[in-house]
Amino acid sequence: MAAAVVAFSLLWEIGAPPVAPVALAPLVGAGVGWVLLRRSLRRRRVAAREFPEPWRRALERYVRYYMVLSPEDRARFERDVAVFIDDAEITGVNTTVTDDVRVLVASSAVMLVFGRPSWEYSDLPEILIYPKPFDEDFRCTSHPEFAGMVVPRNALVLSRPALVSSFRREEPFHVGLHEFAHVVDFEDGQFDGVPRGLGLPARRRWQRLIERELVRARRGESALDEYARTNEVELFAVAVESFFKDPRRLRARHGELYDALREYLNQDPAGRP
Ligand SMILES: [Zn+2]
Repeated sequence: MAAAVVAFSLLWEIGAPPVAPVALAPLVGAGVGWVLLRRSLRRRRVAAREFPEPWRRALERYVRYYMVLSPEDRARFERDVAVFIDDAEITGVNTTVTDDVRVLVASSAVMLVFGRPSWEYSDLPEILIYPKPFDEDFRCTSHPEFAGMVVPRNALVLSRPALVSSFRREEPFHVGLHEFAHVVDFEDGQFDGVPRGLGLPARRRWQRLIERELVRARRGESALDEYARTNEVELFAVAVESFFKDPRRLRARHGELYDALREYLNQDPAGRP
């Protein structure tokens, strides 16, 4: 689908006659099919490889979520991490991207969609790793405002120290989950706090739920971090962080929101031992 859209925009820009997209449709269809087949074969190859021992050590050291999985699910998590690392373009900006950082970026992305094995990130932006938090011009100044940011269709930016500390048990925030929640929000082309892949009735239910939660947050009656007050988009991302970082509290204080996320992500972290 993305390839078809790209082909169409390209033709539009070079001023091709309107018949061109129709004439090229079978060609584009074959191209998309070939891209998908190649990706699926490459993924199978990656999944069949032995999971690197330094990556496993990073999972064991930092990722509690992985440690409490059954042996079968650990193997599936490792495979998903390996496939994600192979798919993603992770670039360090004035910093080196170590194996640990790669594994933590991938773990954030994989945790979010682990309950839905058939899901994948279809339009992953380049992931930029910064050595510190940054300001709105992406400069690491003495007054940084952001630990992470998504620039739709362009880049996902993460501060390395914030990413690492997100995996500490006592840390209430999780910049990796927060930014990948934004990616999932935007994958349907709309940045609105409603995640991708929902039919119209379900979208409306989500919209109403997120609006109610936003009112609650702005009244100071929410258990979510106050950054959730910003707007619907941030409320969704903050709720995702809370769902994984403090699920029992979210379930106790925001039962409806917890249930909506549990159903959508097909995971029940509050129910884990
Ligand atoms: Zn955000």
